[in-house]
Amino acid sequence: MKAAATPSLDRFSQPDAAGHFGPYGGLFVPETLMTALEELSAAYAAAKADPGFQADLAGHLRDFAGRPTPIYFAERLTAHCGGARIYFKREDLLHTGAHKINNALGQALLARRMGKKRIIAETGAGQHGVATAAVCARFGLECVIYMGAVDMERQALNVFRMRLMGAEVRGVEAGQRTLKEAINEAMRDWVTNVRTTHYILGTVYGAHPYPMMVRDFHRVIGTEARAQILGREGRLPDELIACVGGGSNAMGLFFDFLEDPGVRMIGVEAGGRGIRTGEHAARFAGGRLGVLQGCETFILQDGDGQIELTHSVSAGLDYPAVGPEHAFYRDRGRIEFAYATDEEVLEAFRLCSRLEGIIPALESSHALVHALKRARALPADKVIVVSLSGRGDKDVQQVAAILKK
Ligand SMILES: *Cc1c(COP(=O)(O)O)cnc(C)c1O
Repeated sequence: MKAAATPSLDRFSQPDAAGHFGPYGGLFVPETLMTALEELSAAYAAAKADPGFQADLAGHLRDFAGRPTPIYFAERLTAHCGGARIYFKREDLLHTGAHKINNALGQALLARRMGKKRIIAETGAGQHGVATAAVCARFGLECVIYMGAVDMERQALNVFRMRLMGAEVRGVEAGQRTLKEAINEAMRDWVTNVRTTHYILGTVYGAHPYPMMVRDFHRVIGTEARAQILGREGRLPDELIACVGGGSNAMGLFFDFLEDPGVRMIGVEAGGRGIRTGEHAARFAGGRLGVLQGCETFILQDGDGQIELTHSVSAGLDYPAVGPEHAFYRDRGRIEFAYATDEEVLEAFRLCSRLEGIIPALESSHALVHALKRARALPADKVIVVSLSGRGDKDVQQVAAILKK
């Protein structure tokens, strides 16, 4: 496959003025937030076009977050599978332990530019909360994080980290007490305090311009990976594989390869205890079109449109809806989707730890499960790049408890 120059993607990858990626996306929010979202769109467009803003962001990504992250040849996992060469894009090495900091930094700088001194955010696994707390400490911004009570228990260490860095963590007791309810509370706060407050949404989800903006802030993952794999292999990879919660690490890795038809892209959702049990978060395997928390997309819902309960061993993938841009590229046949079950994920988590000396996040382990399957199926001259979206330090207590049972 011949390597093309980094393409300009403006032809079909930008949403329309109301934030639609084909039939998906849009702007489904209360009246009171419309003005704020329009202001945000305008401020973001100006910042994106401002070389000063981009240089400032690049400097913080380098010195504070630790970019560029390496591309790493997983030699022993490759040998173990006996097929395609497996590379990791090492987002796990970033400050605060996951890709989330790319977006948190971008949005914090944008909030500062807009004169907003109070930040709110939602968090599932706690990684987005930790990244947001860190950038707020760095820039002296007030920080309130909403987190489901169940997630606070699963990720107690991350709650402590956020508080150490000066954030107020507000537990949410409503409903299933996980990410969906935390987002509802954050939206409620934003409606009330919109004049002073910026909402740092943590994935490629929600009302326009969030899906587009968050994608742009993570695009650096794929820009780097493209140059790095060209340097190492002298050609583009055959497959890119990333886990998909809302879809930000996946979209970030995939974006710069969208116009390379020889590069296959696969997003991996949370299969939980299996699709037939109903206890999962695989929106494309069991979901239907609907509207939730600001946008139209694939959602896990029952016949009456009630949002279904979800389950995943990883809090970061435990959400009933998926980013609208993923739905769009799935329709176009550009991004394919698979899922990994909790059991497979725990096995990959242990295998990667033992063979590579890298403890991956449970979220990233979903991508690993599928990468191992693909590596076994492909010949040795093929190349797979896996998004190692985060490190598993936050997960070791939970895994220890599961393995004890
Ligand atoms: C939050 C998180 C995810 C899921 O979010 P996306 O927006 O789908 O990337 C994946 N991996 C890690 C390590 C996370 O912290």
